[in-house]
Amino acid sequence: MKIVFFGPPGSGKGTQAKLISESIHISHLSTGDILRQKLEDGDNLSIKLKEIMSSGNLVSDELLNKIITDKLKSKDCVNGFILDGYPRTLTQAKFLISFFNSNNLKLDFIFDFKIDFKIVEDRIILRSQKEKRSDDNIDVIKIRIEKYTAETYPVSQLFAKEFSKIYSILDASQEISKIQKELIKILKKA
Ligand code: AMP
Repeated sequence: MKIVFFGPPGSGKGTQAKLISESIHISHLSTGDILRQKLEDGDNLSIKLKEIMSSGNLVSDELLNKIITDKLKSKDCVNGFILDGYPRTLTQAKFLISFFNSNNLKLDFIFDFKIDFKIVEDRIILRSQKEKRSDDNIDVIKIRIEKYTAETYPVSQLFAKEFSKIYSILDASQEISKIQKELIKILKKA
């Protein structure tokens, strides 16, 4: 099963991706988590990444495309995967579509998490107190939402058009269990 999740930061897509990936035994590819792990390396790349990520900006398409290609080709993904946080730009989207075409892969589902940005801001401020992420403060949240609107929202619209048969919108303001139920209901139609 190959799934893509779209949605603004704080829309809960990471939580849902984790639950689904555990229940159907597929990989959860969160590019944010992968990059946060890289920050631990303490090398030159990690210093650069920290600067970009803590400002709310996006890391280069080149690095992300490489990270995702390596993951998708690895044995972790033989049963399938959920892409959470990728593709985030039109360049990444085109790269992914061409990777799929040249490897004879087909997406099964696309879920787009819709939520009011005010709810997102409140959620992220709460999360910052729990997880102590350096990109979870109000100024950075605003930049991350701007990046989402300018760069990622157009990608979700492209996928909605190109893959309309497998594209579903979820109301992400609902409780975690309610969203989970809706997701499973749609996945069972496969
Ligand atoms: P996330 O946990 O998905 O909100 O990602 C945290 C940060 O990692 C983002 O604000 C970006 O700086 C970076 N990041 C994650 N995924 C991508 C991506 N696909 N393209 C560029 N930057 C990314």
